[in-house]
Amino acid sequence: MTNTWIVTTNAQIGNLVEAGRALGGTITVVAVGDAQIAGVDKVISITADADVPAEAYAGAVADAVAAGDQDVVLAPNRPAERVLAGAVAARLNAPVLSSVKKVDAEGAHVARFGGITLQTDALTARAVLIMDGGPAPEGDPVAAESVAAQAYPATVSSTESAQGERVDLTTAQRIIACGRGFKEQSELSLAQDAANAMDAQLACSRPLAEGVNWFDKDRYIGVSGLTVAPDVYVAVGISGQIQHLAGMLDSKVVVAINNDKNAPIFKAAAYGIVGELEQVLPQLTEALKA
Ligand SMILES: Cc1cc2nc3c(=O)[nH]c(=O)nc-3n(C[C@H](O)[C@H](O)[C@H](O)COP(=O)(O)OP(=O)(O)OC[C@H]3O[C@@H](n4cnc5c(N)ncnc54)[C@H](O)[C@@H]3O)c2cc1C
Repeated sequence: MTNTWIVTTNAQIGNLVEAGRALGGTITVVAVGDAQIAGVDKVISITADADVPAEAYAGAVADAVAAGDQDVVLAPNRPAERVLAGAVAARLNAPVLSSVKKVDAEGAHVARFGGITLQTDALTARAVLIMDGGPAPEGDPVAAESVAAQAYPATVSSTESAQGERVDLTTAQRIIACGRGFKEQSELSLAQDAANAMDAQLACSRPLAEGVNWFDKDRYIGVSGLTVAPDVYVAVGISGQIQHLAGMLDSKVVVAINNDKNAPIFKAAAYGIVGELEQVLPQLTEALKA
């Protein structure tokens, strides 16, 4: 019987709970802090001081995870949880698999090469898996067993908001992504107008974030950037190189606007418009407003 352990700092673990259910055993959550966790069998809550970073409780989390030989430990793919997962793996002498898309009786389905291939790893022994957390599971919170713990010496001395508007494109439902087809930064207003008209977020290919720096780095999509799965992804002036496609192929509907009818992006698109973005985008905006 494979039991599941989940290490987390908050309640956004719906995908992990689903994975645990697929494995069939019990699900125990080890949470740093007092997150209200629902939909699992047991919750162990590591009492955490507000001015101590969650990562400083990694040793305590590793102590609390009493995983058996066949058990799996799941962690949501977030910065603090990746540290907790590493500590647990080191303590258990277990391997870590990251980019796990799904877990079922066959094993862990792991995205490779930026999601272009899916590899299935049989879970024959204890392992630590990192996957997207998903939403909070529904249901009444499970009463937690609180555990007092010693943190490694680390204190948060101050917190400042990052400059500029921060966006989380991974939860966006509509995205307009801009590529090198935009010749001047001022042309981006055409994409912004269309984005306003369809309530979309702007994103970009890597050259626009790491070449000309017209976008922050948290807005570029692809194998070395973000992976997104919106309802609608409009790729404007993007050729569709594999490194970009790897970040957006899970979009439900892809629309491509490109002046080269042979651009590879059209192969990934449900709808394609061959034309100059300077002409197509204003027409699209007008049509969306109508
Ligand atoms: C290791 C590695 C990792 C990488 N990771 C990423 C990544 O994560 N994300 C990423 O995006 N890239 C990544 N790249 C870069 C990637 O290979 C491509 O170079 C990049 O995606 C190309 O960006 P683009 O499509 O905007 O530009 P281009 O390939 O130059 O395409 C521009 C497109 O715009 C079209 N166009 C030109 N003018 C117009 C116009 N007026 N109207 C309409 N269309 C027009 C052209 O026909 C062309 O198809 C990576 C590369 C490497 C080597």
